[in-house]
Amino acid sequence: MSSNRLYEHAIFKIRNEHLSKDESVSLAYQRAKLVVRTYRLTAADVEHCSPKFWSMMTDPICSLDIAMFTILAAHVGLTIGTLSRHLKTRPDLRPLVDRLLRFDTVGIYLLTERGHGLDAFNIETTATKTKDGFILHTPREEATKFMPASTPSFGIPKVALVNAKLIVDSQDRGARFFIVPICNEHEMYRGVISTRLPTRSGTNPLDFSITQFNNVQLPPTALVASDITDFAPPKRPLEAWWDEVWRIQLGTMAVPAPWINALKATAFIGGRYSMHRSIIGKVSNTPIISFRTQQWPVLNATAVAMVMDNWFPRSIKFAMTDTTDDRVRHAMSVIVKATVCRHFQRCVPEMAERCGAQGTFEHNYMAKIENDGKGVIIAEGDILTLCIRLFSELLLGRYTVPMPSASNSLLAQHALGLMEENTEILRSLGDHRSESFNSLVLPQSQVVIEAIGHAMAYAAAGEAKIPQPILDIYECSVIRQDPAWYSENVGLNRMAQRRREDAAVKAALPNLNAYLDALRIEDYVSAPIVSDEGWKNYVISLPRHTGNATVEPQQIQHTQAML
Ligand SMILES: Cc1cc2nc3c(=O)[nH]c(=O)nc-3n(C[C@H](O)[C@H](O)[C@H](O)COP(=O)(O)OP(=O)(O)OC[C@H]3O[C@@H](n4cnc5c(N)ncnc54)[C@H](O)[C@@H]3O)c2cc1C
Repeated sequence: MSSNRLYEHAIFKIRNEHLSKDESVSLAYQRAKLVVRTYRLTAADVEHCSPKFWSMMTDPICSLDIAMFTILAAHVGLTIGTLSRHLKTRPDLRPLVDRLLRFDTVGIYLLTERGHGLDAFNIETTATKTKDGFILHTPREEATKFMPASTPSFGIPKVALVNAKLIVDSQDRGARFFIVPICNEHEMYRGVISTRLPTRSGTNPLDFSITQFNNVQLPPTALVASDITDFAPPKRPLEAWWDEVWRIQLGTMAVPAPWINALKATAFIGGRYSMHRSIIGKVSNTPIISFRTQQWPVLNATAVAMVMDNWFPRSIKFAMTDTTDDRVRHAMSVIVKATVCRHFQRCVPEMAERCGAQGTFEHNYMAKIENDGKGVIIAEGDILTLCIRLFSELLLGRYTVPMPSASNSLLAQHALGLMEENTEILRSLGDHRSESFNSLVLPQSQVVIEAIGHAMAYAAAGEAKIPQPILDIYECSVIRQDPAWYSENVGLNRMAQRRREDAAVKAALPNLNAYLDALRIEDYVSAPIVSDEGWKNYVISLPRHTGNATVEPQQIQHTQAML
């Protein structure tokens, strides 16, 4: 847990729901600057993903403003990250990197094109070699860069790393990154056109844009490479492309971090609300937490948050230091991202709905963070397609990930059972490129990758001696996702599953208060519904309408006539 107390800073006390869209975007940039200047990372911290880098990415403050986190992920993880590994041979990049590290300039990362998202290997933007450097150009609408926030509207200079096909002597030499100034504090640089997109529904807004280049002249030093005179075409183009975008693979591991803290906040808000919100009875008032239908979502979110919170740093350690195989490192990132994000998507809407109308409001956090979460599913690696690739490679036995043994838990049996089942199907089909593989195996990809994540997270929770009732709730929660498998394979029929759940909830409930405290998220929660007093204070801050108008007699007659 972070000790910087950023949550006490005035700019994190401002409530976004009272701001206009542009005020909110502007605040996200100010907050990002404060976080960057608080952590004071070095280029080496970013390059090697040091513990300080991970402290910043996992700081609960990031779950308070996802627009801010989006800026940080692109600015630090992608832009500074991509440049960092060239600094030894490219001292000329140092002043730019220093400006970025101070947040004097914001870095954006322009890879995706409107017509090429998941197939970004096929981008069309060109950087044509001339005797003076390069000419960067967008040949058609489909090649416009899609998403990164490139507008000059918030008083911040921006620089981009633009991925473009290097053209030398009319020959395509593969996609490379180029450093391109985008705007100063007030306006775009010549030849760069930014078209601002509308807001992503229900999210903390950012100036997401479409960016186009019209024959922009770049110096030879714009090429992001250790040797700027090496224009040789890559021997293995796809491998070279993956190497260019190496920071995205690390981003896949980093971007789920705020969702674990958001899960904690959701459990805390839903839990506290359910404890004080009561229905009036004949004899006494009954807090809604007395209902099993309330107990489950609160305990489920709490258990999932605790198990993910324990597993995440262990996964980071495994990926960063315990394995030397890049493929296994990336596999771990995919498993973590899929598992954390899908848990988040199941827990948060369920908890929000159990807070009634209050759960639908921006000021109560959950509904908005649910929408913000949709972006992370796609950004820095779309979960579905990441799982498809990983699952295929695991089935083909190209490498393995460290799975707990079947004797570890029911969840490990489930994951291994699903792997076996699909390996058998592949064996019967013979070919992983067949139509049957596409229709029978690939749709299972995400389910199996998540199952692997569940088994790993559960094993890590057991090792860390997380309280047994929490482990039991987590296990029941995962069983709920595939009840038929447990019924068919380990003799847990529907009634047995229900009884297991009942026992888990009964054991966990007496400790709910302590579990919510143990999440250590209260300082980051500003939802007014966590206490009755909090709500009463909040409501005073809202605009009120009063007046002295009196109803004229003829108006009453008119109203009566209409009725
Ligand atoms: C919040 C946010 C921030 C972003 N920030 C950046 C940024 O900083 N820089 C940047 O360059 N981009 C950024 N992006 C863009 C992001 O990288 C792309 O959205 C992503 O790569 C997916 O591309 P797409 O949206 O065009 O989806 P598409 O490529 O159109 O894919 C749509 C769907 O098609 C299906 N599909 C596609 N290919 C396959 C396949 N091979 N197999 C099976 N199904 C398939 C999947 O269901 C997929 O979800 C951001 C996006 C978001 C949401």
